[in-house]
Amino acid sequence: MTARPTGVEVSCDGPTGRDDCPDSAAVAASYASRTARQVRADGRETGWTRRRHDGRLIDLCPRCRTQPTPPTA
Ligand SMILES: [Zn+2]
Repeated sequence: MTARPTGVEVSCDGPTGRDDCPDSAAVAASYASRTARQVRADGRETGWTRRRHDGRLIDLCPRCRTQPTPPTA
């Protein structure tokens, strides 16, 4: 996640939580959303989700959400 002076950006952690999202996706936050909680609420409206992976929460864009977690190489 990258913080911006104007607010908060919630970006996709990719299907595995380790690799960058192939689309480098980030939630398109509404103008009024300034906190991570608000931005994630915006994301849920467009299909974003949070998932626990390896003991931590990762944010997934609608595309990565549907990707199966690949086996560890
Ligand atoms: Zn993604």
